[in-house]
Amino acid sequence: MDKVITSNTSRAEVSAYTEIQGSLQVSPSRYLNKSGVLKESGQYVKSFGTRTLISGGIRALQALEDKLTHSLQQHAVSYEAHTFVGECCEENIKLIARKSREYKADVLIGVGGGKALDAAKAAANKCALPIICIPTIASTCSAASPASVLYDSKGGFLKSLYFPNTPELVLVEPSVIAKAPVDYFTSGILDALSKWYELKPIFSTIECPDLSTRSAMELSRLLKDVVHEKGASAVEAVHCGVTNAALVEIIDVNIFLTALIKCLSLFTLTIGLAHAIHNGLSFLKQTHDKAHGIKVGYGIAVQICVEGASEKEILHVFRLFRQIGFNPSLKTLGISVTTQNKEKIVANCIDDIGVKSMPIPISEEMILNGIDRVEDFAYQDIL
Ligand SMILES: [Zn+2]
Repeated sequence: MDKVITSNTSRAEVSAYTEIQGSLQVSPSRYLNKSGVLKESGQYVKSFGTRTLISGGIRALQALEDKLTHSLQQHAVSYEAHTFVGECCEENIKLIARKSREYKADVLIGVGGGKALDAAKAAANKCALPIICIPTIASTCSAASPASVLYDSKGGFLKSLYFPNTPELVLVEPSVIAKAPVDYFTSGILDALSKWYELKPIFSTIECPDLSTRSAMELSRLLKDVVHEKGASAVEAVHCGVTNAALVEIIDVNIFLTALIKCLSLFTLTIGLAHAIHNGLSFLKQTHDKAHGIKVGYGIAVQICVEGASEKEILHVFRLFRQIGFNPSLKTLGISVTTQNKEKIVANCIDDIGVKSMPIPISEEMILNGIDRVEDFAYQDIL
């Protein structure tokens, strides 16, 4: 159960792991994104047992309390709530695992955002329990993916963990996502978009990509197209706190489609420069209150500049970013534009696997130039 692949795992080790698994893993096992699903949640949970530990942040527990717990009671599922505080770190994972064992839970329910769900998934994996995820924001694909991002207790990125166990069930109530802060939703769109921008250059280095890798690439293209078509309308719905068809579809993009692409490409495509920049940013405490995807979105902007994209291509991406309410810049991340800060970001990401996986060798100077180029565009009137 504890066998994990980390983002620093070598290709050879990944291949060995593939042999252990012996098959493609698609996650989640079941996914429902529909209005009213929380009122029915007990009916789904009871198929995993009669006792559950619900782990999530205080706001998420409050947001779901009425409908989720009422439905659990209706279906004779007893529960205990654990309030998740802080990071998805070893200490929190062990705590949730211990509480699950003490409560003799048959199934663990993770509620909330990426960190809370990641910690619950890792804990479920530790004690071999099925995991149900109920996201209250659509800021990453965490709810649906068999992976967690591990941080130290202060919020510094450590590594990604990939589990043999996939979430058994994901329940998404669109009205809950619509009422969450819009930054989280934008973050989810940007993290999803990184699939296209990171996989494309890495895919180009594979001589004979297998069918699952090609599928991941084609789905990433579809993902990018859907975001271009419906991203702005979905963000507008969240601004107004209402649901619409675009919102429901972009929730599917942020959570389900992104997780599916991650699974299909797990052993052949890795993260690229955009996530490496994110990982570097995570060591600057000014960014700790910024959502994962906001930092990844900034990373996409830096990456395309480092790749030498034309001004036209850069403007195309920056226009989409502005339409969904995101302006990539150090200021957006709460970082002052100083040489020292820029060098810190570069020093913290240059050895990341996301830098090494890119098709061209990337130097510290190239990333610094990319950061400066993003700043040049950040203050232009480009809509
Ligand atoms: Zn990500």
